[in-house]
Amino acid sequence: MSKYLSRQYRRLTPYTPGEQPKDQKLIKLNTNESPYPPGPETLAALQKKELEKLRLYQDPDSSELKEAIAGLYRVQKENIFAANGSDEILNFAFMAFAGEDGKVYFPEISYGFYQVFAELHHTDYRMVPLTEDFSIDPSDYVCRDGMIVIANPNAPTGKALPLYRIEDIVRTNPDQVVVVDEAYVDFGAESAISLIHKYENLLVVQTFSKSRSMAGGRLGFAAASPALISDLERIKFSTNPYNVNRLTAALGIAAVRENSYYMENCRRIIRTREYTAEKLSDMGFSVLPSSANFLFAKSGSMGGRELYEKLRERGILVRHFDKEQIRDYNRITIGTEEEMEQFLTAVKEILKEATL
Ligand SMILES: *Cc1c(COP(=O)(O)O)cnc(C)c1O
Repeated sequence: MSKYLSRQYRRLTPYTPGEQPKDQKLIKLNTNESPYPPGPETLAALQKKELEKLRLYQDPDSSELKEAIAGLYRVQKENIFAANGSDEILNFAFMAFAGEDGKVYFPEISYGFYQVFAELHHTDYRMVPLTEDFSIDPSDYVCRDGMIVIANPNAPTGKALPLYRIEDIVRTNPDQVVVVDEAYVDFGAESAISLIHKYENLLVVQTFSKSRSMAGGRLGFAAASPALISDLERIKFSTNPYNVNRLTAALGIAAVRENSYYMENCRRIIRTREYTAEKLSDMGFSVLPSSANFLFAKSGSMGGRELYEKLRERGILVRHFDKEQIRDYNRITIGTEEEMEQFLTAVKEILKEATL
């Protein structure tokens, strides 16, 4: 830290992203990326003609992209906000709806960035404990006096709330914004986008990073009432008007056009997830029921850190969190069928060696 850093940022603990190893031989099951490449139409979107337009600024409103996303979810363009990844939307939401004098509630075990944003913007925050079985108890969030942020499905647990439970939270907080972070919704949960016409305080956030194979393209979007969207636009035009770059916008439009390719990949990932969960259970793991593209699992005989390290020695990366309540667990991204076979074989060998 230099002596020049503003005092307000000196105590900030930044978010720690999962490792992105240079070694391409590692089996990478640690950051919930898709194991499948973008679809053929998406790949074809970046022809020379498009690249030559790089000399020009793009449409700062991302109109065409918004229209495409709005069409997919049967809402209006005015209901859609586009951003440089959903992390940017979350940041803007903290700025717009919480800020310095606001307050925010989110689960104690959830996406680590919520706490970072609360600290960055000096927002008073409450981390609400999960229940014994790692569920979000919706009754903890009814009638609160601050913004609410819920990941549905939650991370790193993978557990989802049914839509009527989300609706309870939104309905009972008419004076607060309720952010539903649906980064993993395409892997088996029900989206709250269908409720945005009914509740002007609902902000649904999604990303192209997980179910649409575009983590490196950085594209997220939000769906909400036009009033909430215009608040986010106000922050965007005060921060970074060209937040979605020209190439990513073109990729996103193409990805929406071949949505069925991505949804088929999701179904395949769900099948692999269920198969992997069953095999882990057979080996004595407790595996939380997942509606996401990862499993959260605990071995009956080996600590989470030890298993993480032993897998790593064999070239398999999973994610381990040192947080007290979850340190026996690992979060395992669902890869291809072959990758999961290699993962399961490695786990079996590691557990067997440990009993020798
Ligand atoms: C991955 C993830 C994000 C961030 O996604 P980007 O669009 O890549 O910024 C947001 N929320 C949750 C819960 C995530 O897991």
